[in-house]
Amino acid sequence: MHAFEYRRAASLSEAVRTLSQDSEARPLAGGMTLIPSLKHRLNQVSQLIDIGGLADLQGIAVRTDHLWIGAATRHQQVADSADVARAVPGLACLAGLIGDPQVRTRGTIGGSVANNDPAADYPAAVLALDAVVVTERRELAAADFFQGFFMTALEPGELITGIRFKLPRRSAYAKFKHPASGYAMAGVFAADLGAAGLRVAVTGAGGGVFRWTAAEQAWASGATVPTLDHPDLLEDIHAPARYRAHLAKVMCEQALRELA
Ligand SMILES: Cc1cc2nc3c(=O)[nH]c(=O)nc-3n(C[C@H](O)[C@H](O)[C@H](O)COP(=O)(O)OP(=O)(O)OC[C@H]3O[C@@H](n4cnc5c(N)ncnc54)[C@H](O)[C@@H]3O)c2cc1C
Repeated sequence: MHAFEYRRAASLSEAVRTLSQDSEARPLAGGMTLIPSLKHRLNQVSQLIDIGGLADLQGIAVRTDHLWIGAATRHQQVADSADVARAVPGLACLAGLIGDPQVRTRGTIGGSVANNDPAADYPAAVLALDAVVVTERRELAAADFFQGFFMTALEPGELITGIRFKLPRRSAYAKFKHPASGYAMAGVFAADLGAAGLRVAVTGAGGGVFRWTAAEQAWASGATVPTLDHPDLLEDIHAPARYRAHLAKVMCEQALRELA
């Protein structure tokens, strides 16, 4: 591990100021991804600015037309929240399927979404629920936020403060876990957004989260889930693209069965 300074931010404005003054500084939330990447020397920082305890980034609230989750809310808090279970049951289920108890106790929704691991679970919910990622300087629609393999629309030093999820009529998440890591080999989030229709988003199978419009259209017309045809399916030591496509179809069928 390369040397760095650790600072616990006293306020959101202090964190934003420090990050804007030092381009090598990085925010630290749960540390579940950032710390291992530093330990393995895959990453180097001048300062870690710990935002995990900031009051401005905590909390879950159901409002008239959306569910708000603060960026530093831990996965286990989302999984245990009666409000989330009532308003967006698929999201509570998703949070409870992340990693293991240690990861769920430390990891945060903001850190997961900012990291945009192609096998992470939350991006599927953010995209399917047509959510808005809120930062200290602007609001980003999910469709613009995720930009492929570990890439997002976040600018250097920009901090996610929370995520605003649309309230669906129904929602469900189905995930085929990698047996060792717990990450999604294929995860499918299905959301019935009422007048806006059904949305299906896939994680784990490709180089980044994506919407599966052919499955959405099939559901609308009462047809069966089609074979997944996507140009960017992952092919690695864990599984060939064909197997991932198959898993995505099975997970989609499972999520849609739960919706029905
Ligand atoms: C063993 C293991 C198993 C896991 N299994 C799963 C799984 O099954 N599913 C899954 O989805 N994830 C899984 N994860 C990842 C886990 O969910 C982490 O919580 C997540 O990847 C990062 O969240 P964090 O809060 O720990 O962020 P950190 O590691 O602290 O930060 C990650 C990145 O995001 C940046 N960042 C953090 N917060 C913000 C913010 N508010 N605004 C802007 N940038 C920010 C950091 O600077 C860093 O670049 C697993 C991790 C481990 C170690």
